[in-house]
Amino acid sequence: MKEVFILSGSNRGDRQGFISKATDMIEQMAGAVVRKSSVYETSPWGFDDPTPFLNQVIEIETMLSPEDLLEILLTIEVKLGRIRPFDGCGCGIPASPDHGTGKKDAPAYAGRTIDLDILFYGQRLIFTDKLMVPHPRLHERAFTLVPLNEVVPEFVHPLLKKTIAMLLHECRDQAKVKKMDD
Ligand code: ADP
Ligand code: MG
Repeated sequence: MKEVFILSGSNRGDRQGFISKATDMIEQMAGAVVRKSSVYETSPWGFDDPTPFLNQVIEIETMLSPEDLLEILLTIEVKLGRIRPFDGCGCGIPASPDHGTGKKDAPAYAGRTIDLDILFYGQRLIFTDKLMVPHPRLHERAFTLVPLNEVVPEFVHPLLKKTIAMLLHECRDQAKVKKMDD
């Protein structure tokens, strides 16, 4: 069985609730959750949004191919209310920046009830338009490396050939990543 790691993130509404629900749905639709990091609170990254993210890494055992796993994760994002402006949200309302509300001032970026990214799929390397594994920015982000390091510090990045512990040590990301109380 491959070591498959997923990063969940939420910065809208009941953030912990969305992360827990996503984990339950992953377990039902993709496979058993075998390990979980603590939940961490991290400042928003790369865009201007005052609400901090909660992030958690989970490891699953799955029979799904990486492509099928991505499809399931995107389905779960839609079910949990994630809106991707400009490409629709799968709810039946035609794609539009305002999610069909008619509001002209809808933000281009609507925050994220849930974001589910595949970090690693064992040692597999995948570079397609739809899917990049290992996730191409994971080694630049403290909010990914800190929870990964809690769960699998010795896991070797299949492309960079360095352990998670080494990548975290070398990472220059200064953003605060704070462990939440259990
Ligand atoms: P990001 O997570 O990078 O902020 P999005 O969640 O909006 O961006 O993802 C946009 C697209 O990224 C997805 O529809 C998916 O096709 C693609 N993608 C590429 N590689 C991955 C990956 N490893 N995990 C999840 N999505 C990925
Ligand atoms: Mg994503």
